[in-house]
Amino acid sequence: MLKRKFSDEELRALIDTDDTEPLFKEALKVRRENYGDDVYIRGLIEFTNYCRNNCYYCGIQRGNTGLSRYRLTHDDILECTEAGYELGFRTFVLQGGEDLTYTDKEICGIVHDIKAAHPDCAVTLSIGEKDRKSYAVYKSAGADRYLLRHETAEAAHYAMLHPAEMSLENRKSCLWALKELGYQVGSGFMVGSPYQTIDNLVSDLRFLEELEPDMIGIGPFLPHADTPFRDKEKGSLKRCVNLIAVLRLMFPYALIPSTTALGTIHPEGREMGLRAGANVVMPNLSPPKVSKLYTLYDNKLCTGAEAAQNLNELRAKVEAAGFRISIGKGNVREH
Ligand code: SAH
Repeated sequence: MLKRKFSDEELRALIDTDDTEPLFKEALKVRRENYGDDVYIRGLIEFTNYCRNNCYYCGIQRGNTGLSRYRLTHDDILECTEAGYELGFRTFVLQGGEDLTYTDKEICGIVHDIKAAHPDCAVTLSIGEKDRKSYAVYKSAGADRYLLRHETAEAAHYAMLHPAEMSLENRKSCLWALKELGYQVGSGFMVGSPYQTIDNLVSDLRFLEELEPDMIGIGPFLPHADTPFRDKEKGSLKRCVNLIAVLRLMFPYALIPSTTALGTIHPEGREMGLRAGANVVMPNLSPPKVSKLYTLYDNKLCTGAEAAQNLNELRAKVEAAGFRISIGKGNVREH
C-alpha cells in the first residue's frame, strides 16, 4: 500500500493550505480504494470522569473541584453494551479518566463479560497510562484495541500541557508496549493546543510514521472554563480537516475518526471530517445523565446513540455526506 511521504516543507504547506479541493479529492480517492464508502461506528462508553491526572487542557482533571463525578458500575456498562448491540454496534470503546478505583481485575471482568456476551464484538480500552503488566492482563481478558493519544510528540511542548509528574517518554513507552502486546493501537493529538507550532504538528506526523498506529484520532483543542487553559484560543477547524486529509494520504490503511471535538467546533464538522478522509464515527452510548458530566471541554456535543432515532439521524447525515454506515467490527486493513 502506497504511503505518501512528504517533506517537512510540503507538510507545513498542506496543513495551512486554502486550496483544499485537490487535497480532499486525493484523500477521498485513497479512502475509497481502501474502505469504499464504509463508515464504521464505535459505541463510546465514558464510564468514569474521575481522574488522577491534571492535564492542563482537560475538563475532568482532578484539579477541577466543581465537577460532579460519576462512575458506572460493571452492570451499568454491560447494560450500555446490550443496548448498543441491539442498535447494531459491534465495537465498544470504554473510555475514562485514570480512575484507580477500578482495579485491573474489575476492568478484566468487564472486558471478559462483554466478550462472552458478544464474541462478534471488539472491545477497545481508552483508560490512559498503565503498567505493561496491566495492559497484558486486559489483553488476556479479551481487549482488542487501545486508544492512547500521544497528545504532542515534542517533550518541550508536552511539558507545557501537562504537570511535571507526567512525561512524553512514559506516554510513548505505553504506546510501544501496547503494540508489542498485539493490540490494535490508536494514537493522535489535539490540533491547536496552546503553544503548539506548525513544527510541533510536523513532529506529530513524524512520530505517527514511526509508530504506525492502526487508528489515528485528532480533534481541535477546545477550552474548558474550569481549567488553566480557560482563556486559550480554540484550535483551527481548517487545520484539523486538512490534517485528516494528510493523515489519510500518509496512512491509507488507517481508521480515522471524525471526532466529537470536530462536531462541537462546527455543526457540520463531522461531515467535513468524513469528506476529508475520516472513516469512523463514535457516538455516545453512555446514559444521558452521565454523558453531560464527561466534560473534556465546554459545550461538548452529546451525540447520543442511545435511542434508535438518533442513530437513524446519524445514518442520514453520513449518507448525505456520501457514505454509509457499515455494521461489523471494522478491523483495520493490513498496513
Ligand atoms: N484518560 C484517557 C482518556 C482521555 S480523554 C487517556 O489519557 O487517554 C480523550 C482525549 O480527549 C484526550 O486524549 C485528549 O486528546 C482529548 N481532550 C482532552 N481535553 C480536551 C480539550 N480541552 N479539547 C480537545 N480535546 C481534548
